Amino acid sequence: MATLIASDPSPTATPNFAGMTRQEMADALVSIGVAADKARMRADQLWRWVYHYGARDFAPMSNIAKDLRARLGQAAALTRPDIVDRQISRDGTRKWLVRFAPGVEGEMVFIPGVGRAGALCVSSQVGCTLNCTFCHTGTQKLVRNLTAAEIVAQVMIARDDLNEWPTLERPLNDGDRVLTNIVFMGMGEPLYNLDEVAKAIDIISDGDGIAISRRRITVSTAGVAPRIPELGDRTGAMLAISLHATNDALRNELVPLNKKYPLEALFAAIRAYPGLSNAKRVTFEYVMLKGVNDTLAEAKALVRLLAGVPAKINLIPFNPWPGSPYECSDWETIEAFAAVLNKAGYASPIRTPRGRDILAACGQLRSESVKIRASARALAAE
Ligand code: SAH
Repeated sequence: MATLIASDPSPTATPNFAGMTRQEMADALVSIGVAADKARMRADQLWRWVYHYGARDFAPMSNIAKDLRARLGQAAALTRPDIVDRQISRDGTRKWLVRFAPGVEGEMVFIPGVGRAGALCVSSQVGCTLNCTFCHTGTQKLVRNLTAAEIVAQVMIARDDLNEWPTLERPLNDGDRVLTNIVFMGMGEPLYNLDEVAKAIDIISDGDGIAISRRRITVSTAGVAPRIPELGDRTGAMLAISLHATNDALRNELVPLNKKYPLEALFAAIRAYPGLSNAKRVTFEYVMLKGVNDTLAEAKALVRLLAGVPAKINLIPFNPWPGSPYECSDWETIEAFAAVLNKAGYASPIRTPRGRDILAACGQLRSESVKIRASARALAAE
């Protein structure tokens, strides 16, 4: 069974239970002959094998009748998309390039020491439509939205590789977890794929399965204002905003989406995010671009802009890429900028760039892989 995915448009595709919702599992069971009144109960049993134990085979599912297991083995799949490439950084950051379907490849990154124990940065689209000028990924055309199953598959692949599925003999205590947080900060704009993102979050957060709580799942957006309160209503996830500028003129340039949803509309939407409090703050990401957005006046403007919003600020040193029109701010400049925010009472950690040696840092995803793969091809052809 190669790379079948749950949403494979081909009607003859074998149903792949890895990535399905409970309802989809029940429907798929009916489609392979399970009685409708038993399907839900069977789906709950399968759910636990698939998402709690990370099963990749129906055979060991001891509480499911042997003949059904055999039928599932023939008529259904439990597969992950193929891993095309996997790299581990000196700092422990891991990056995978995953082939979701032929010609549809995207990356995700595991960063130890971020969040409670470690965070997985997942992609919601392959490519992007936004064209933010400092982001290499954003200069690539959108290939397509990822399905919920493909988003969930990223988490399952990471847990396979981190050896983090419990077994009947070895339960997983919460304190032993390595992958504790999910951030939708990989490729793509999650709010342009909200249906699939919300469905993926339902699966990932389910307490009977992977059980990463909604409070440890963060969705980052460049500012699709009308979808922001809806994101909160539908997912209960933590909100992150890629802000990067404190006035419309500059933000129009850096994040062209700002022309559609300027700062005023954006902040009205942020203020409407359900459940905000000091315990549930919005994260504002601010990439430090030398001579562009890094003056102390802008730090003060940022403080004014955030007034009344429970917020924390992540200052991200700009990760350059070949041909990028920006440079990273000097370290002293970043520290001085952070000091203004700290003085105003904001936690504003400077994000240490992680995984730069394997091109896994913010804004480096996918594009560099293509380049390496192209040059590797050229090398092979020589
Ligand atoms: N489209 C969503 C999800 C992507 S998140 C969003 O914009 O929020 C990826 C984060 O990395 C964003 O905050 C983005 O602004 C930041 N980023 C992109 N390119 C970068 C670069 N070259 N250096 C540092 N941060 C970058």
